[in-house]
Amino acid sequence: MIQRHNSDLDVEERFTRESNRLPGRDLDRIANAYRELLQSIGEDVNREGLQRTPDRAARALEFLTQGYRQNLDEIVNGAVFESSASEIILVKDIELYSLCEHHLLPFIGRAHVAYLPNGKVIGLSKVARIVDVFARRLQIQENLTTQIAESLMNCLEPSGVAVVVEAKHLCMMMRGVEKQNSVMKTSCLLGTFKDDARTRSEFLSLLKD
Ligand code: ZN
Repeated sequence: MIQRHNSDLDVEERFTRESNRLPGRDLDRIANAYRELLQSIGEDVNREGLQRTPDRAARALEFLTQGYRQNLDEIVNGAVFESSASEIILVKDIELYSLCEHHLLPFIGRAHVAYLPNGKVIGLSKVARIVDVFARRLQIQENLTTQIAESLMNCLEPSGVAVVVEAKHLCMMMRGVEKQNSVMKTSCLLGTFKDDARTRSEFLSLLKD
């Protein structure tokens, strides 16, 4: 059993790259839309505190949606290695920040990603990058979980993949029901994690450690 934590990951690598930027005209459109939005709620877009807000908010949205402009093959490229490892590899507690597609509010949590290798392993930081590619979009947690699992299945062809995501949704915490402490848990089990009870229970016990 190999178990690694988020502290091993290369944080720098997770920042925005030039190729993930939006064209200037799109940033302008977003900034204009934010200006419109601020006026719609009765704000004065010319008051000092808000003057640069539409531009800043556009940049923030660009960052939070950079997953649309990232290419999974490029990210994974060069980081898949041949290996005879045959035990579950688990990357636990990968920080996750996404935006719910229903309210455009953040959901924040952690992803735990495991796979049972079948000849190939992947660099640890890449697992976090894969999580980011799908988290930095408009999402629902269920789809995010499945997309992470399926992309790992495709690029490594392991015997199985298991992904668990636990997250708090600001759309629940700040509005409506205001359930401050509810955490949503989703999982996606593929291959041996789905078909073999022993692999699944080993994974679940690793998660508890
Ligand atoms: Zn929501």
